[in-house]
Amino acid sequence: MFKNLLDKFRKDKLPPILVPQLMDTYTRLPVSFVRGEGSRLWDVDGNCYIDALGGIAVTILGHSHPAISETISLQANKLLHVSNLFHIQEQAQLASKFCSIAQMDKVFFANSGAEANEAAIKLARLHATKRNIAKPVVVAMQGSFHGRSLATLSASGNKRVQQGFVPLVDDFEHIKFNDIDALGALAANNNVVAVILEPIQGEAGIVIPDEGYLRAVRDLCAEHDWLMIVDEVQSGLGRTGKWFAYQHEDILPDIVTSAKGLGNGIPIGACAARGKAADLFSPGDHASTFGGNPFSSSVALTVINTIESDGLVLAAEDVGEYLKRQIQHRVGTLSGVVDIRGKGMMLAIELDSSPANLATKFLLKGLVVNVTGGGRIIRLLPAINLTRDEAVEIATLIHDVLIEL
Ligand SMILES: *Cc1c(COP(=O)(O)O)cnc(C)c1O
Repeated sequence: MFKNLLDKFRKDKLPPILVPQLMDTYTRLPVSFVRGEGSRLWDVDGNCYIDALGGIAVTILGHSHPAISETISLQANKLLHVSNLFHIQEQAQLASKFCSIAQMDKVFFANSGAEANEAAIKLARLHATKRNIAKPVVVAMQGSFHGRSLATLSASGNKRVQQGFVPLVDDFEHIKFNDIDALGALAANNNVVAVILEPIQGEAGIVIPDEGYLRAVRDLCAEHDWLMIVDEVQSGLGRTGKWFAYQHEDILPDIVTSAKGLGNGIPIGACAARGKAADLFSPGDHASTFGGNPFSSSVALTVINTIESDGLVLAAEDVGEYLKRQIQHRVGTLSGVVDIRGKGMMLAIELDSSPANLATKFLLKGLVVNVTGGGRIIRLLPAINLTRDEAVEIATLIHDVLIEL
């Protein structure tokens, strides 16, 4: 069935698809997609795949979604960009909608997750300035990922993303994730101004904290006047069965960041805040040329409206749970499978070893997944409108690959 690129791989020769003019930032898999529809992708050779990755949590409504395509085409023929020097109706509508689903007061639009987190970190600095704290400390978590800009890679609790980039932004103090005592121990440090964390750690391999942890973080932040910043770049927009994962614990952070699924592939990021955190920026403090332009704003508004009108937040919970059970049923007892976990459409299968070229082995069966955690964790971030039939198909293909290892 699989021709050309993958055939070369089958013969145990990884094809060197090196583009000399591209900087060497990615180790790319030996396949090139040219078309997508729903949760299906087709490569240059006409092979069809089921997409359980969604461009790493980005195509939350799948590929070529008719409502998204229609908005893109309408807006492209109407107005792409003007500048934030002017009032932008589409941005105003998106702001209102985004604040209502996130339960926040105000929002700033950027173009990526890293930029959304940069804005959040700048808010923490302004909070420090207001409190007259000259050497502010932002508490961050070991294993976290917040982006690749200098501030966000410094916030990330992962030595690999920091390697070679010293001096880092030195605000951040990393503690153990899911350890409320570790955070409580910092109460004595008067320089702490904020805590930044993912409600479920994505890049680390879908690490879900204990029930009550986020609420306990919320309580400590309130008690000590620390801003609670929740990075929902991967977990947000309905993926876990709530609009945002913190809503599972019925809490409200001070700041929420979003990106990835928000534009279904059109770049957009958001940093929303409530209460006093929402009023920290004044004109001139922060800006973005592209952020919240008519094009990306209208697409993001259609993404949110479609998730809402199609009932996809509940669907993500239901079908995600179904997918997890199907996977448990098929591979749960295989030796080598250590854990199957996740919430909604954010799932992981942890293995006890790192088989070589694992992601490519899945491609050969026609399944697109991500492998993280040093090659041991298979991560699934499918579109939230995945069907039950597609879920069965994914679980079956996972079985077919794992059984051969
Ligand atoms: C992907 C990701 C980011 C970075 O987003 P970019 O759009 O790549 O800058 C930040 N935080 C989390 C939790 C992410 O998963």
